Amino acid sequence: MTPSPSTHCVLCGFEAVLAPRVHLRVLDPGAPAREVTLGLCETHGARLRKGELRTLLVVETWQTAEGRLNPANPLHGLRLVAHCLACDTPLEIADGGAGPGKTTRTLPTGELIVECPGCPMHNVVESIGGDPMAVQLWQRPARPRPPS
Ligand SMILES: [Zn+2]
Ligand SMILES: [Zn+2]
Repeated sequence: MTPSPSTHCVLCGFEAVLAPRVHLRVLDPGAPAREVTLGLCETHGARLRKGELRTLLVVETWQTAEGRLNPANPLHGLRLVAHCLACDTPLEIADGGAGPGKTTRTLPTGELIVECPGCPMHNVVESIGGDPMAVQLWQRPARPRPPS
């Protein structure tokens, strides 16, 4: 078995948790596309879920470790694949925007929210290098308390 960056945190080398993880498709010229999974430890995973840690930073850290970082265009030859940050299920991102009954909707603030098909959580999705990517878990706004 080849060593894989999925078993240890890309940022600190601690043991990686099963979710969240960052999923990539690497397109090297002249080679078949390969899937790469980047693991995160509990601490860094929690920060990613809160949106405190940028997905792109995780990718760039891995690229630096692999000696393949292109600072001018870090996403060259890479596609990001959106997975739920809570449970690592692949997200189904509807084309053509939001609508009733769809698992994808846009908030009045312009954020795109995608419901996970595998768990009750919602992910905030942003375009990174043209690919939709979960960047943090969406916290449902607290309901105003009824007057007592
Ligand atoms: Zn870590
Ligand atoms: Zn999920």
